Amino acid sequence: MVSRVIPVDSFDIVIFGATGDLARRKILPALFHRYAVGQMPDEARILGVARREINQQAFKTLVRDNLIEFTQLAVKEPKLLKSFLEKLTYFRVDVHGEDGWSDVSGALRSNVKRVFCFSVSPSFFGLIASKLHATGLANPDCRILIEKPFGHNLIAAKSLNNELLNLFSEHQIYRIDHYLGKETVQNLMALRFSNALWEPLWNSTHIDHVQITVAETIGVSGRGDYYDRSGAMRDMVQNHLMQLLCLIAMEPPARFEPNSVRDEKVKVIQSLEPVLPTDIVRGQYRDKTGNETYRNHVNNPDSNTESFVAMKVNIGNWRWASTPFYLRTGKKLKSQSSEVAIIFRDPPHMIFPISEERKSNALIIRLQPNEGIKLHNMIKEPGPGGFRLTDVSLDMTFANTLGTGGNSQDAYERLIMDVIRGDQTLFMRGDEVEAAWAWVDPIIAEWEQTDVLPAFYQNGSSGPDQATSLLHRDGREWRDIC
Ligand code: NAD
Repeated sequence: MVSRVIPVDSFDIVIFGATGDLARRKILPALFHRYAVGQMPDEARILGVARREINQQAFKTLVRDNLIEFTQLAVKEPKLLKSFLEKLTYFRVDVHGEDGWSDVSGALRSNVKRVFCFSVSPSFFGLIASKLHATGLANPDCRILIEKPFGHNLIAAKSLNNELLNLFSEHQIYRIDHYLGKETVQNLMALRFSNALWEPLWNSTHIDHVQITVAETIGVSGRGDYYDRSGAMRDMVQNHLMQLLCLIAMEPPARFEPNSVRDEKVKVIQSLEPVLPTDIVRGQYRDKTGNETYRNHVNNPDSNTESFVAMKVNIGNWRWASTPFYLRTGKKLKSQSSEVAIIFRDPPHMIFPISEERKSNALIIRLQPNEGIKLHNMIKEPGPGGFRLTDVSLDMTFANTLGTGGNSQDAYERLIMDVIRGDQTLFMRGDEVEAAWAWVDPIIAEWEQTDVLPAFYQNGSSGPDQATSLLHRDGREWRDIC
């Protein structure tokens, strides 16, 4: 099945930080792909803004080289690449200064959607928002797309929300969490809310526990300064893992529209119980040689920042009482792997002999690699030689049947088009971000007060042993990171 492409309205997108890593690896390739499939109207234009002193040609060459590096399509379709590059214009603006803003303003058209993408340091978010107004670039229908991190704690997130809301309405603010743009994450909502099969099972009567894992093989690679002030809790749990937890745990929204969905997510966050210190493990990677350690990578020999967190989270509501959610994320782990695993309870009475092959039913939502949703069931091992059970998985994404072959779009493609369409369903609302910080802040405060040392774990492992014990003591096991 070929996916249908409905062109969006014409737009001008202004990318602040157009020469930066995120713009080059994600935003510009996403726009190129949408252009290639015909979703981006011919008249749509891309205005790149950054501090670097380069001319138009040098900017286009930079973008061309990056598209060739990061997308196969740019290599295969040189004509398309050439016509895409014609849509680009570069503006040198130091956002602290006054120069260059009028050039951007003069280039914007008045009769199309305006999107301002803040792909710059978070310390500039408030400043750019105010400059957009002061220089007349903002209009009542424009949208701003804000990157993560949204604040460093509750106070900072509230202050940034206030700053933005003094200048823009909530419906103009798109706070991005790119996990929500992933095809499988959206498919999880489709699976849950468009089939009658799941809802009766989606509660603590039938679900034993949930595991959410986001494992990375990379270290802090080049982001040491930022990461050491942040840590896994702020960098991953407060946003990405929290969003995944919300989508699994939320009540069915009345409608699939932005506020209904986000209302339900906020209720989940507000139902999270405080985490006991004994239910949380912080880790930091190191290796046997003592060279490839987190502390070396962040150039801070005394750092106690966590590069790993595992925790048991309880949701205090009727649906989830007695079904814990175990969250785990870390760097320098054995595989690059992100998934949500819903582990169902065993049948109340088992008529077959207990064997090692027998496994609990599990619904696995795989975000990377090999995006997809699989349902693990027990069936009879084929053949006449006895009656043994075996675990088989049913592909619930039907990627091959639907012709996507697992090559789903990048999350940014979906999310940027949603901004132009004006659909905020997959973006975080201000109160949602604040609620997440309100839950995370006391955990971090406790660590800071007690100065708890992180548990060390070896590069390439599954994390500290204490994380394994966190589940063992409940008679459960983490799924292998693979
Ligand atoms: P980067 O340092 O690679 O790029 C920063 C960009 O900002 C450059 O284009 C630079 O020219 C521009 N810039 C810097 N100072 C400026 C000034 N005074 N005036 C105008 N432009 C200026 O950063 P990045 O990695 O692309 O990150 C951008 C944003 O995206 C950050 O908020 C980051 O937290 C977020 N983010 C990045 C990634 C990623 O993978 N890179 C992932 C998630 C979120």
